Amino acid sequence: MDERLDRAPCGYMTINSQGIISYVNQTFLDMGGYSRDDLMNHHIESIMSMANKFLFHTYFYPFIQLYGHVDEMYLTLKSSKGESIPVLLNGKSYEGNEAEKIECVFVKMTRRIDYEKEIRNAKREIEEAYRIKDEALEKLEALHRDVERKQEELMRLNAKLESLAVTDTLTGLKNRRYFIEKLDSHIDHFFLSKTPFSLLIMDIDHFKKVNDTYGHLTGDQVLREFARILEANSKESDTVARYGGEEFIILLPEMNEMQSKQAAERLRKIVEEAPWSSCPVTISVGAATFTEHDTNISILAKADEALYTSKSNGRNRVTHSADLDGSS
Ligand code: GH3
Ligand code: MG
Ligand code: MG
Repeated sequence: MDERLDRAPCGYMTINSQGIISYVNQTFLDMGGYSRDDLMNHHIESIMSMANKFLFHTYFYPFIQLYGHVDEMYLTLKSSKGESIPVLLNGKSYEGNEAEKIECVFVKMTRRIDYEKEIRNAKREIEEAYRIKDEALEKLEALHRDVERKQEELMRLNAKLESLAVTDTLTGLKNRRYFIEKLDSHIDHFFLSKTPFSLLIMDIDHFKKVNDTYGHLTGDQVLREFARILEANSKESDTVARYGGEEFIILLPEMNEMQSKQAAERLRKIVEEAPWSSCPVTISVGAATFTEHDTNISILAKADEALYTSKSNGRNRVTHSADLDGSS
């Protein structure tokens, strides 16, 4: 065998059909740290691990017999020191002078194995990065859900606050602030449509006596009961509010002077005849109907004046501001 084959840039050997090495070049010997005597006339499987021997048996020989060649078979050989040498093997059989011979070419695969390791590491790193990303995404989604929940909670609280800001805590009726807003919007509507509306201020008669006789708690109970009576006997479109202390106010949309007097009288009578559980009381009422000369202040002043008249005329009665002397 010539010098060039001996020093070729790949391991080379010939084996017979039983696997006995009949030639091995210097490159192969250098690759495994063997001397020629170590390998010549030895079985090729003597430099293979158990697993590789099995692979060699089940793959290499049958393929050689079937196709006459084996391409790109990965094997791990053992060096003289027992280290693993990954190689790529190509084998081809040919009929020599005497018996069948198989030529084998070995290329060391260390680099490729390193690349594979790097690829495996890179893959692991990518998987880890994906896992971290998924985790972060999950946390972000949880935070989003949390923010959404808090926003909803905030909206609920805001709505509650808004409602509290216009609600009288003792009676649960709307408060004076809310009433004035409603009054203003009715006044705007009046000047657009000329639709009449009226309001009633109702004041509980001798309420101080209730407190003095039965105590403040009973007084509170009377206020609450009165609020329920007003709610039960007003229409959805009416605005019922606690005006302050033992004074209540009701806005009656689309009611003219006569209708407001009837409504006031009806309420006065209901209160007088109500089956009070706390302490029976009566109310005095001052009514006023909005005219184009009025403002929110003037209509309230008129109703207040009418209420004062009801009080001074003996209480438990209704007065409309239009019936007062000198009223327009
Ligand atoms: P009049 O018939 O002239 O209206 O007499 P009155 O006693 O009802 O009127 P006055 O203004 O002299 O007294 C009103 C009382 O209402 C005094 C006050 O202590 C009481 N009052 C005001 N707000 C409340 C409340 O929230 N609870 C209770 N229990 N009493 C209240
Ligand atoms: Mg009063
Ligand atoms: Mg009173």
